[in-house]
Amino acid sequence: MRLVILGPPGAGKGTQAIRIAERLGIPQLSTGEMLRSAVEARTKLGEQTKGIMERGHLVPDSIVLGIVAERIEAPEAQSGFILDGFPRTIGQAVEFDKMLAERRLLLDRVLNLRVDEHVLFDRIVTRSRQMAERGEAVRRDDNPETLRRRLAAYSEETAPLLDYYKRQGLLISVDGLQPIDIVTDRLFAVINARIAAPDEENGSRHPS
Ligand code: AMP
Repeated sequence: MRLVILGPPGAGKGTQAIRIAERLGIPQLSTGEMLRSAVEARTKLGEQTKGIMERGHLVPDSIVLGIVAERIEAPEAQSGFILDGFPRTIGQAVEFDKMLAERRLLLDRVLNLRVDEHVLFDRIVTRSRQMAERGEAVRRDDNPETLRRRLAAYSEETAPLLDYYKRQGLLISVDGLQPIDIVTDRLFAVINARIAAPDEENGSRHPS
């Protein structure tokens, strides 16, 4: 099963991607986590991307495409994967389609967590405050100023992907504001459906 999960920052993509990956026995490939590990490990990649991420901008497509190509070729990704945080731009999606076609692979579904962007800001600010109170490490890009830029990057660069995948008949949208377990159940319902449930936004169907 090859899946992509989309949604604005704070929509709960990471949480849902981990659950899906565990249950399906496939790796969760999070480009954000890969980049954060590179920053922590102070690799060349980390040095190149640290400032960009801290400012809430997107890392250049060429860099991200390189790391994704490497990960989808790894032995553990041979039975599938769930991509979390990639693609993030139309350019990445087009190149990703080429990457898949060259390997004779198909995407099964693109899952979209639909969340009102107005609630996201408060959600992330509250989440990082609670994490700090519990003594947990808070992401450096979860501060209000950077968050505004991450949300803007989402609207300008990533939201157009919804249409891109809708046109391919792959997009399934789920209400991301439901309680976490309900969102998981709904995602599994659409993943397991032989003929996908209608996309709540446009009624399109993915071929079986
Ligand atoms: P995330 O953990 O997915 O929210 O990503 C954190 C940060 O990593 C983003 O704000 C970007 O700076 C960078 N990043 C992650 N994935 C991508 C991507 N596919 N394209 C460009 N930048 C990315």
